[in-house]
Amino acid sequence: MNIHEYQAKKLFKDTGIPVPDGGRAETVDQALDVAKGLSGPVRVVKAQIHAGGRGKGGGVKVCKTMDEVKAAANDILGMQLVTKQTGPEGKKVHSVWVEQGTAIARELYLAIVLDRGAECLTVMASPDGGMDIEDVAENHPERILTTPLDGNHHLWPFQARQLLFGCELTPKQIGQGVKLILKLIELCVKKDATQVEINPLAVTEDGDLIVLDAKLNFDESGLKRQPDVKALEDPEEQDPLERKAAELGVNYVKLDGYVGTMVNGAGLAMATMDAIKQAGAEPANFLDAGGGASVEMVTKGFEVMLSDPNVRGILINIFGGILRCDIVAAGIVEAAKQTHFTLPTVVRMEGTNVEEGKQILRDSGLDFVLANTMSEAAASIAKLTQGTNE
Ligand code: ADP
Ligand code: MG
Repeated sequence: MNIHEYQAKKLFKDTGIPVPDGGRAETVDQALDVAKGLSGPVRVVKAQIHAGGRGKGGGVKVCKTMDEVKAAANDILGMQLVTKQTGPEGKKVHSVWVEQGTAIARELYLAIVLDRGAECLTVMASPDGGMDIEDVAENHPERILTTPLDGNHHLWPFQARQLLFGCELTPKQIGQGVKLILKLIELCVKKDATQVEINPLAVTEDGDLIVLDAKLNFDESGLKRQPDVKALEDPEEQDPLERKAAELGVNYVKLDGYVGTMVNGAGLAMATMDAIKQAGAEPANFLDAGGGASVEMVTKGFEVMLSDPNVRGILINIFGGILRCDIVAAGIVEAAKQTHFTLPTVVRMEGTNVEEGKQILRDSGLDFVLANTMSEAAASIAKLTQGTNE
C-alpha cells in the first residue's frame, strides 16, 4: 500500500528524520495560509498523488512570491497530472503539500527496498539523485551502491558509512546520513514498510542533509497489525473496480484486456491468464475467487468483473477440490441470472462432481460454452471475443 508524500514526511518527522516544514491544502486559500506560515523566501507547491515524476509533469512548482504560490496551487489543484508512472490517463490531484523551499547544493538518492531474492531489506544510495535515477541505474549502475541488511533487519553504522562514502559527502554529512539511514530502517521495520524512496535526499547550501521527496510503501499483509498505517490509505488513489473488489473481499486486479476471468486459486488464475495470452487474446483481469469459494463469492466476483466496460467475454476456470463443481455451477447460473449478462462465456471445470456441475450448466437454459481443457477454453474465448466491440 502506498501513501502520499505529506503522510510519509509526517512519519519521517515523528521518527526524527529531517524534512522541510509544510502543510497540506485542498484549496488555493488553504495553500496561501500554509505558505504564509512558512519562513524563508521560497515555497514549493507539490501535487499529492501516488506517483513519482511529478516535477517533470508540472506537479511541483518552486514559488518566490505569494502570487506564485496562488498561481501554482490554482494550476495544480484539480489537474489531471500525467507522469511517467501514472499512465497516459494521469491522476487527478485532490490536494497539494506546500513546503519551505530548500537551497539545494546537491541531490542524492537513498532507498530501502525489499530484495525478495535475498529475502531481506536492502539499502541503496547514489551520489546522482534527482529526477533521473532510472537513467543512472541504466547507464551507470556502478554509481548505485547497495548493502543488504542481515536477517534481524540490522545494519551496522560502518556499513551505512561505507554507502555514504560512495556519495561524496563530508564527514559531518556522513554522520547525519548514518543517523538518517538507521532511523529509516527503524521506521521500516516498525511499520512493516517494504519500500522507502528518498529522491532527492538534498545536501543544502549550508551543508546539511534534508529529505525533499518521500515515497513509502507498506506490506499489505501487515496492515492488520498496523491500524495507524491502514488509516493513511487514500481510496481516491485506488482503481474504482479494485476498491469495490476489496470491499467485497474478492482478489481482483484490473488489467488492460477484454477477457474477464474468474478462477479459483491464484496459481490457476495466473496460468489461465497465460493461456488466454497464448491463444492471442488479452485478459481483462486477474480474479481469484479463493480455493474454497462459495456461491456468494462467485456472485460477487461476477459483479466486479462485469463492472469493467472493456469485458467482451468471460472465461471461468474452476478446479473443484475443496469447492465442488456442482456448487460453483449453481453459483454461475445464479450470478448469470442475477446480473443478466449476455456476454459469451466459456466454462472449464475439472475435479470433484464435474459431471454434475456440467449438467447444471447445460440445464440452465443459458448459453455457456463448455470446454474440456484449459487451452481449449482459452482458444474458444479468444475466438468468441475476436473483433467484437472494437
Ligand atoms: P517528483 O520526484 O515526483 O518529481 P520531487 O519531490 O522529487 O517530486 O520534486 C522534484 C524536484 O523538485 C526535486 O528533485 C527538487 O529538485 C525540487 N524540490 C522538491 N522539493 C523541494 C524543496 N522543498 N525545495 C527546493 N526544491 C525542491
Ligand atoms: Mg522525487
